[in-house]
Amino acid sequence: MKKKILLKNSSGLFAILFGRSTRKRVVRKRVVQKKKPIVTPEDREAARVLVHARLEHFNQYYNFSYNKVTIRNQKTRWGSCSNKGNLNFSVRILALPRDAQDYLIVHELCHLKEFNHSSRFWDLVAEQVPDYKRIRHMLRYTAPIQ
Ligand SMILES: [Zn+2]
Repeated sequence: MKKKILLKNSSGLFAILFGRSTRKRVVRKRVVQKKKPIVTPEDREAARVLVHARLEHFNQYYNFSYNKVTIRNQKTRWGSCSNKGNLNFSVRILALPRDAQDYLIVHELCHLKEFNHSSRFWDLVAEQVPDYKRIRHMLRYTAPIQ
Protein backbone atom coordinates (compact mmCIF):
# COMPACT_ATOMS: atom_id res chain seq x y z
CA MET A 1 0.00 0.00 0.00
CA LYS A 2 1.30 3.42 -0.91
CA LYS A 3 0.50 6.54 0.97
CA LYS A 4 0.96 9.99 -0.45
CA ILE A 5 1.46 12.87 1.91
CA LEU A 6 1.63 16.44 0.74
CA LEU A 7 3.60 18.95 2.76
CA LYS A 8 4.14 22.62 2.27
CA ASN A 9 6.77 24.82 3.80
CA SER A 10 6.81 28.56 4.16
CA SER A 11 8.64 29.12 0.87
CA GLY A 12 5.92 27.31 -1.03
CA LEU A 13 7.90 24.19 -1.78
CA PHE A 14 6.02 20.97 -1.65
CA ALA A 15 7.36 17.68 -0.55
CA ILE A 16 5.56 14.56 -1.54
CA LEU A 17 6.43 11.73 0.72
CA PHE A 18 5.55 8.31 -0.50
CA GLY A 19 4.92 5.97 2.33
CA ARG A 20 6.81 2.72 2.37
CA SER A 21 5.56 -0.10 0.36
CA THR A 22 4.83 -3.00 2.68
CA ARG A 23 6.36 -5.54 0.31
CA LYS A 24 9.54 -3.81 -0.72
CA ARG A 25 9.97 -1.77 2.44
CA VAL A 26 11.22 1.25 0.57
CA VAL A 27 10.67 4.79 1.46
CA ARG A 28 10.88 7.20 -1.41
CA LYS A 29 11.06 10.90 -1.00
CA ARG A 30 10.64 13.42 -3.73
CA VAL A 31 10.61 17.17 -3.60
CA VAL A 32 8.75 18.94 -6.34
CA GLN A 33 7.93 22.51 -7.10
CA LYS A 34 4.26 22.92 -7.82
CA LYS A 35 3.32 25.33 -10.54
CA LYS A 36 0.92 27.18 -8.27
CA PRO A 37 1.53 26.55 -4.61
CA ILE A 38 -1.49 26.87 -2.42
CA VAL A 39 -1.41 30.25 -0.75
CA THR A 40 -3.58 30.46 2.29
CA PRO A 41 -5.49 33.64 3.13
CA GLU A 42 -3.27 33.85 6.24
CA ASP A 43 -0.09 33.86 4.08
CA ARG A 44 -1.51 36.56 1.88
CA GLU A 45 -2.57 38.66 4.86
CA ALA A 46 0.83 38.24 6.53
CA ALA A 47 2.57 39.36 3.32
CA ARG A 48 0.21 42.32 2.98
CA VAL A 49 0.87 43.48 6.55
CA LEU A 50 4.62 43.06 6.14
CA VAL A 51 4.80 44.87 2.79
CA HIS A 52 2.66 47.80 3.95
CA ALA A 53 4.64 48.22 7.17
CA ARG A 54 8.02 48.23 5.40
CA LEU A 55 6.78 50.44 2.55
CA GLU A 56 5.58 53.00 5.07
CA HIS A 57 8.85 52.74 6.98
CA PHE A 58 11.07 53.37 3.95
CA ASN A 59 8.76 55.92 2.44
CA GLN A 60 9.21 58.12 5.48
CA TYR A 61 12.64 58.61 3.95
CA TYR A 62 11.85 58.64 0.22
CA ASN A 63 8.44 60.28 0.38
CA PHE A 64 7.26 58.98 -3.00
CA SER A 65 3.62 58.45 -3.79
CA TYR A 66 2.32 55.06 -4.73
CA ASN A 67 -1.07 53.82 -5.71
CA LYS A 68 -2.31 50.28 -5.10
CA VAL A 69 -0.26 47.61 -3.40
CA THR A 70 -1.08 44.06 -4.47
CA ILE A 71 0.14 40.74 -3.14
CA ARG A 72 0.22 38.06 -5.82
CA ASN A 73 1.08 34.44 -6.01
CA GLN A 74 3.86 35.21 -8.44
CA LYS A 75 6.19 32.48 -9.50
CA THR A 76 8.61 34.38 -11.67
CA ARG A 77 9.04 37.74 -9.99
CA TRP A 78 9.52 39.03 -6.49
CA GLY A 79 7.92 42.33 -7.24
CA SER A 80 7.09 44.92 -9.85
CA CYS A 81 6.10 48.53 -10.24
CA SER A 82 3.68 49.70 -12.91
CA ASN A 83 3.83 53.04 -14.66
CA LYS A 84 0.62 53.92 -12.82
CA GLY A 85 2.46 53.68 -9.53
CA ASN A 86 0.99 50.33 -8.51
CA LEU A 87 3.32 48.07 -6.57
CA ASN A 88 3.08 44.29 -6.71
CA PHE A 89 4.87 41.79 -4.53
CA SER A 90 4.99 38.03 -4.56
CA VAL A 91 3.54 36.40 -1.47
CA ARG A 92 6.80 34.41 -1.44
CA ILE A 93 8.55 37.45 0.00
CA LEU A 94 7.43 35.96 3.32
CA ALA A 95 10.00 33.20 2.97
CA LEU A 96 12.95 35.58 2.65
CA PRO A 97 15.21 36.97 5.37
CA ARG A 98 14.39 40.43 6.60
CA ASP A 99 17.21 42.20 4.74
CA ALA A 100 16.10 40.69 1.43
CA GLN A 101 12.48 41.66 2.10
CA ASP A 102 13.60 45.22 2.77
CA TYR A 103 15.75 45.30 -0.35
CA LEU A 104 12.81 44.19 -2.54
CA ILE A 105 10.53 46.76 -1.01
CA VAL A 106 13.07 49.57 -1.45
CA HIS A 107 13.75 48.36 -5.02
CA GLU A 108 10.10 48.71 -6.08
CA LEU A 109 9.70 51.94 -4.12
CA CYS A 110 12.66 53.50 -5.97
CA HIS A 111 11.07 52.62 -9.32
CA LEU A 112 8.44 55.24 -8.50
CA LYS A 113 11.16 57.83 -9.07
CA GLU A 114 13.45 56.00 -11.51
CA PHE A 115 11.50 53.73 -13.82
CA ASN A 116 14.66 51.94 -14.96
CA HIS A 117 17.79 50.25 -13.61
CA SER A 118 20.16 53.14 -14.24
CA SER A 119 22.99 54.08 -11.91
CA ARG A 120 20.72 56.82 -10.57
CA PHE A 121 18.23 54.12 -9.62
CA TRP A 122 20.86 52.04 -7.81
CA ASP A 123 22.21 55.10 -6.01
CA LEU A 124 18.69 55.73 -4.75
CA VAL A 125 18.36 52.12 -3.55
CA ALA A 126 21.78 52.34 -1.84
CA GLU A 127 20.63 55.29 0.25
CA GLN A 128 18.52 52.90 2.33
CA VAL A 129 20.08 49.54 1.47
CA PRO A 130 23.84 50.15 1.20
CA ASP A 131 24.66 46.45 0.75
CA TYR A 132 22.05 45.87 -1.98
CA LYS A 133 24.66 44.18 -4.21
CA ARG A 134 25.19 41.38 -1.71
CA ILE A 135 21.44 40.87 -1.36
CA ARG A 136 20.87 40.88 -5.12
CA HIS A 137 23.57 38.29 -5.50
CA MET A 138 21.99 36.12 -2.80
CA LEU A 139 18.55 36.47 -4.39
CA ARG A 140 19.86 34.99 -7.64
CA TYR A 141 20.03 31.69 -5.81
CA THR A 142 16.58 32.02 -4.33
CA ALA A 143 14.52 33.35 -7.20
CA PRO A 144 10.86 32.38 -6.95
CA ILE A 145 11.17 30.24 -10.06
CA GLN A 146 13.19 27.09 -9.45
ZN1 LIG B 1 13.60 46.75 -10.92
